[in-house]
Amino acid sequence: MVTPVANPGGIAPCCYQHAVTADAIFCGECGKPLLRCMAHEECGGLVGDDGCCNVCVRPQLYLDKDAVTEVKTGGVLVLPLVFYNASGVGRPLFITDVWVREGESARRKVELPWKRLDAGGSNRLSVQTGALERQGRHGIEITFAAATNYFMREERFCFTSSLSLEVEQGGSLVINQTINSSGVGAGSDTVYAPIRLESQGETRKAAVGGQAAELGLQRADNFEAAQGIRGYTEGPLKGVVVNRGARIIWKGFGDEAPSGPITTRDGIFAIGRGRSVRLGGDNQLQLLVTDAAGAVDEQLSQAISRRHLELFIQGGRLCARVTGQAGVMIGDHKHGADDALAVIGNGDIVRVLPKYPEALALQIRMRANYGQVEEITVTRVPAMPEGMPR
Ligand SMILES: [Zn+2]
Ligand SMILES: [Zn+2]
Repeated sequence: MVTPVANPGGIAPCCYQHAVTADAIFCGECGKPLLRCMAHEECGGLVGDDGCCNVCVRPQLYLDKDAVTEVKTGGVLVLPLVFYNASGVGRPLFITDVWVREGESARRKVELPWKRLDAGGSNRLSVQTGALERQGRHGIEITFAAATNYFMREERFCFTSSLSLEVEQGGSLVINQTINSSGVGAGSDTVYAPIRLESQGETRKAAVGGQAAELGLQRADNFEAAQGIRGYTEGPLKGVVVNRGARIIWKGFGDEAPSGPITTRDGIFAIGRGRSVRLGGDNQLQLLVTDAAGAVDEQLSQAISRRHLELFIQGGRLCARVTGQAGVMIGDHKHGADDALAVIGNGDIVRVLPKYPEALALQIRMRANYGQVEEITVTRVPAMPEGMPR
């Protein structure tokens, strides 16, 4: 049986070997940045630009052996689906939505009586099609959204299975499926053995060797962006997704500018008054209030918490969790430590101390190419003079 979800990020084994070193940022062999799953401490997983860890997120979809159609042509087909969580690290999945689309018609949502799918566990869902009116091909697409949690973080991805039903002359029904494995080159499509539903009087039963038949799954990234499941849902970046590997370029921070994707163990880029990692602290970047000449304003800097703000890319958006007591202003909104995470968009200005809005701000710029953000510029206002030691 073919692995249903191809490795979406295309993570090479060499990267996994180098990621064992806790502070490794790049793979020493292929040179790619090591983008760790938010749950890396538990799963050891790496992700690609799409942010999906295929150690944590391993849904599988099966057509159970008792698929039946009620009558011949003109009848409806009941597809008894089995959702299975193949995660090897015991992480539950939460199936939040299921949609079914027939032919070119609009997708319709299917009500789910359950949501949680424990690792190694399965849940059933029967989906009824419309009438199979004519002989010939009949396309059915089953799409679902699966969420994974780790502490206060959540990622959600959509997967889709495309089935082509063919009503044969004798009344038998054949389900064909092909997976286009993108990026590997032509001729690499995965073809699954057809599932044959034989005629047995008025009903048909699936003849899949007495076993459930595995359905091929593909990531539905366009659908995720269009539905707002990943990426921005409003403003000029609507429908745009920030890549997990987007480079963050720090401007105006003097000499200390660790530009690049977020490669920390937990995928969090921490900033605050505390020292940076390279100076023995545990922030990725130190934030202090300075005057125009670059001299530190000790008193105002005390108002910045040691760990003031955590930045991370989640759900295809740049997100912030405020950990500083003083809070921050993002646009017109004040965010405090008790608030849910804040989404930061293009053009947003993050004022580090809401009481002293002019003291220190971070200006966010993003540019999208073909619906994806690969680079985020964070400009310190006011800028530190060039060549200033921290
Ligand atoms: Zn590598
Ligand atoms: Zn993971």
